[in-house]
Amino acid sequence: MKKITKTNEQWLQQLGAEVYGIAREKGTEAAFSGALYENKQSGVYACTCCGQPLFESQSKYDSGSGWPSFFSPLHAEAVDESADGSHHMQRTEVLCSRCDAHLGHVFADGPAPTGLRYCINSASLKFNKE
Ligand code: FE
Repeated sequence: MKKITKTNEQWLQQLGAEVYGIAREKGTEAAFSGALYENKQSGVYACTCCGQPLFESQSKYDSGSGWPSFFSPLHAEAVDESADGSHHMQRTEVLCSRCDAHLGHVFADGPAPTGLRYCINSASLKFNKE
């Protein structure tokens, strides 16, 4: 896969300050604030930075967490994972495999069939309705 690389200035110009702070600087949107938390339409959730398809509506579920939650990515190659020890927690960060956008974190308390919960910021996603 060909990686997409841009300068911080280019990302900031493309995304605006709010999305930039989350997707490029590992921020977290406030719980229950994101535009896609309650979205139940059929379609594909793509990376807001580079457009790569990341998740689909069939794997979205209501976790009650306040962030869009998925039990799996669209395919394993769509996302990368990285150990994140920030905020005095040991978590696993989820990133777009193409542009390294910060998406959110993955936890081991999700539903069947994977048992995983991909807890993802709305701001890092662009929803493409089917
Ligand atoms: Fe991306």
